[in-house]
Amino acid sequence: MAEISFRDVTKVYGDGTEAVTSLSLDIAEGEFVVLVGPSGCGKSTLLRMLAGLEAITTGEILVDGEVVNQVHPRNRDVAMVFQNYALYPHMTVFANIAFPLRQARMATAEVTRRVTEVAETLELTEHLKRRPASLSGGQRQRVAIGRAIVRQPKAFLLDEPLSNLDAKLRVQMRGELAQLHATLGVTTVFVTHDQTEAMTLGERVAVLNDGELRQVGTPQELYHRPADLFVAGFIGSPAMNLVRAEVRSGEGAGDLVMDFAAAGSVSVPEAAAELCASAPQDTELVAGIRPESLLLRDPAAAAEDLPRARVRFTELVEPETYVHLAGDFSGVDPGDPDAPPRDTLVARVRSDRTFTPGEEVALEIDGTGLHLFDIESGRTIR
Ligand code: ADP
Repeated sequence: MAEISFRDVTKVYGDGTEAVTSLSLDIAEGEFVVLVGPSGCGKSTLLRMLAGLEAITTGEILVDGEVVNQVHPRNRDVAMVFQNYALYPHMTVFANIAFPLRQARMATAEVTRRVTEVAETLELTEHLKRRPASLSGGQRQRVAIGRAIVRQPKAFLLDEPLSNLDAKLRVQMRGELAQLHATLGVTTVFVTHDQTEAMTLGERVAVLNDGELRQVGTPQELYHRPADLFVAGFIGSPAMNLVRAEVRSGEGAGDLVMDFAAAGSVSVPEAAAELCASAPQDTELVAGIRPESLLLRDPAAAAEDLPRARVRFTELVEPETYVHLAGDFSGVDPGDPDAPPRDTLVARVRSDRTFTPGEEVALEIDGTGLHLFDIESGRTIR
């Protein structure tokens, strides 16, 4: 087990691409940390620098307090698992798992003992004589993991290890990885572009964008207290609704005015009154509303000044329905190139209520789920 520190690490590739920028992150001994961010944000580069497969341009990486920048990958005592498993096709499962031990010239009896033990942990015992080609994707992934843990490394590095599995198997393997971590307690750094995977697996999650660390925290912290617009828009599914807004002073003071052309003003619920009071007044901001905090009311019964929207379509995700709404508002792109255009709002409601396309609804906000962001810097207003 090991403690890992990135200190002001920057990586510039030969062609001038700056893949990681002044990144600092401390990972405690035995911790399971997930690095997440859109494709190209520098996750793999960071992991490969830690494994010693890529040189560090400036800064330091420490394992157990020792700077490893110049340490050969073989001597870093970290094991890496890749997306494509990288198994030897001509070797049996046993030989694949045993490979790193044989490389280290371990005695045959000890090799057999360790491989047998690992195979049992990963439920591969009955497959030890087979070759990778005859295994399922999930079994292959387990062999790759077995090969990594058999060395009893100080740290375990996983680069998108579940991406090649189908959805069901991915969920199952997530559970198995979490269990394996609970059993072995080895420091684990897991890379994924999938925020759902990150949120379900990570004790702590580090969100990256454009080579920069945007926020690191527990899944709950990232969801409920995002540091900026990028994290707010990236974490959560369906994504947080982001619209232009203004907190009004003078008449209707404290009212949050969303950028709805037709019907603008949303009275700020009490839970968000303090937040709105601390925000700059009469200045354009971005309001963020989680889909579960966007409440849909019957337009006939709701107050007249509540903004109206129309149902575009619904998605049933039992026990909930995601209601996609069209309205006259200005959506905001949180800076994630993969994000769909924000020209709709999404509400997440219990599926026992049905909504039909074209239907009008009145919008209310649950103040506990309201976030405000500075439109220039993207920083969260607290
Ligand atoms: P991620 O794992 O988040 O998808 P990467 O770490 O693979 O991101 O890449 C980060 C950035 O560095 C990207 O812009 C990518 O194109 C670039 N990059 C990755 N590897 C190289 C390389 N060997 N040479 C030049 N640029 C690279």
